[in-house]
Amino acid sequence: MPEQYDVIIIGAGVVGSLVARALSRYQLRLLLLEKHSDVAEGTTKANTAIVHAGYDAKPGSNKARLNVAGNRMYDNLCAELDAEFDRCGTFVVALSEEDLVTLGSLYKRGQQNGAAGLRLFNAEETLRHEPSLTKEARGSLYAASGGIVDPFQLGIGAAESAVINGVELMLETEVTGFLFEHNRITGVTTNRGDYYSRWVVIAAGLWADDLMHKAGLDGFAINPRKGEYFVLDRRSSEVVHTVLFPCPTPVSKGIMVTRTVHNNVLLGPNANTIRDKGDLDVSAAGLDEVWSGALKLIPGLAKRDIIRSFAGLRAAGSCDDFVIEIPGDPAGMVVLAGIESPGLTAAPAIAEEVVEMLREAGLELAPNTHFNPERKAVRRFAVLTRREQEALIATDPRYASVVCRCEMVTEGEIAAACHEVIPARTYDGLKRRTRLGSGRCQGAFDLPLVIGIMARELGISPLEITLKGGHSRFLARGTKEVDA
Ligand SMILES: Cc1cc2nc3c(=O)[nH]c(=O)nc-3n(C[C@H](O)[C@H](O)[C@H](O)COP(=O)(O)OP(=O)(O)OC[C@H]3O[C@@H](n4cnc5c(N)ncnc54)[C@H](O)[C@@H]3O)c2cc1C
Repeated sequence: MPEQYDVIIIGAGVVGSLVARALSRYQLRLLLLEKHSDVAEGTTKANTAIVHAGYDAKPGSNKARLNVAGNRMYDNLCAELDAEFDRCGTFVVALSEEDLVTLGSLYKRGQQNGAAGLRLFNAEETLRHEPSLTKEARGSLYAASGGIVDPFQLGIGAAESAVINGVELMLETEVTGFLFEHNRITGVTTNRGDYYSRWVVIAAGLWADDLMHKAGLDGFAINPRKGEYFVLDRRSSEVVHTVLFPCPTPVSKGIMVTRTVHNNVLLGPNANTIRDKGDLDVSAAGLDEVWSGALKLIPGLAKRDIIRSFAGLRAAGSCDDFVIEIPGDPAGMVVLAGIESPGLTAAPAIAEEVVEMLREAGLELAPNTHFNPERKAVRRFAVLTRREQEALIATDPRYASVVCRCEMVTEGEIAAACHEVIPARTYDGLKRRTRLGSGRCQGAFDLPLVIGIMARELGISPLEITLKGGHSRFLARGTKEVDA
């Protein structure tokens, strides 16, 4: 008898994981499929991590409506999922007379969209909030409801919460096609076999269009738009205290300068349309563009504070809005596509909308009375009080052994992350759960030690430890006749 689910969700990014979690409030058999070796491995891990207020998108669009609704859900959601969130407010900075006109339009648009806490500041007020800002600043649009979040903990937390509430998660499982009965989808084919379901939700980020085409839905395409970034050392948060956008361009919100929830500073992104959905390389030209863009806002940035660069790909759809629909033909499918920015902000509201769409389409939703909204992240030793640290060491002496010196991550945290609800099985997965290797040395000192600890905790050979799954192994073979 084949496996039969009520809903299969394709893609364990922030959107798919929150959809799975929202559906786990009901008595349903749910399956979450992810082709990577970890959850939150797609665009969810490579973005600017801003919880937008909602003044950017065109009034009446899905983007505008779900941005504002999602923003309102963040305090509660992040408290439940133990993900760091700071509703610190955001600024769009005008550097010219023309920009001041743009600020006025954004303000009006924000009001139409229902964005909360918008105010127009003059130059003096703006500089008082961010003294490091260029003296060219002419004014700003301040959004008190804007904030910053840890997208890793949000994505992982959403998926773990779903699993805690009964969702079956299959990693390294790629959906290759669909099963049909007449014009209704009845399941999916994967590299691990076929799975049957009454409903299938496509939440596949950049690959949503490929899956739509496989389901027989033509006419929609995703054209990936790359954004490159610099990450600066935490000491640069002494210079940058806020979240600063320039005035937007037609294709992006512009190269911004923002503090992160962990007090690093992020510069970027630029915006370049590319063809290859797997191309996450950064280029010298792109990074130069990011650096010069950031200097326009904060001239006092220092290149010696750069500790990393990375790129993310926007899932820019051919119709300039989020596609959120149940197509009639084929039936049995929910399509979530073109979920580019502000997709992180909107994700919790998208998830609620999917539940309501399925309810209206006839899916019986009996409450799951055992639903537990809480999920706990690995406790971060570095942010505990001295007394809490001592108590933790008393329960497990491995918390006294600091492995990552830059971020003060202990062996106890590494071990804990390897035994979480969704265990860290790769170095990058561990990094996103603990901040290990996220400091100035970027893991240069800790890597050999970490490989040993992970192998011991996961009960596998050190040769099997990878950076991010697949073929990304660190070690080729044992040396000096020592068995691996
Ligand atoms: C440069 C940049 C900056 C951004 N900044 C912000 C911001 O500041 N604020 C904001 O609100 N939004 C921002 N966004 C947008 C936000 O990051 C995305 O909207 C959000 O992460 C999308 O989540 P997702 O779950 O749809 O996609 P993803 O995180 O990409 O998840 C999709 C998942 O589906 C999986 N998958 C795909 N195909 C298959 C298959 N066939 N079988 C199984 N699994 C599959 C993928 O592996 C992936 O894990 C930004 C995006 C970019 C690129």
